[in-house]
Amino acid sequence: MVADVEPLRKAVSCPNCSLASARTYYPFCSKRCSEMDLHRWFSGGYVLASQEQPFAEEE
Ligand SMILES: [Zn+2]
Repeated sequence: MVADVEPLRKAVSCPNCSLASARTYYPFCSKRCSEMDLHRWFSGGYVLASQEQPFAEEE
């Protein structure tokens, strides 16, 4: 048995590529996927998303 696995965190699918996650980069599978997500964060993906308002005030 492997003794040093955290029982609370099962492997999940990487949000980026759907491979099994690694504990070190949870919930991502690798450093690369983890950094890609951070890059998306800092490159304005969330800013662009926030410009799409769910309720348009046109009326
Ligand atoms: Zn991945």
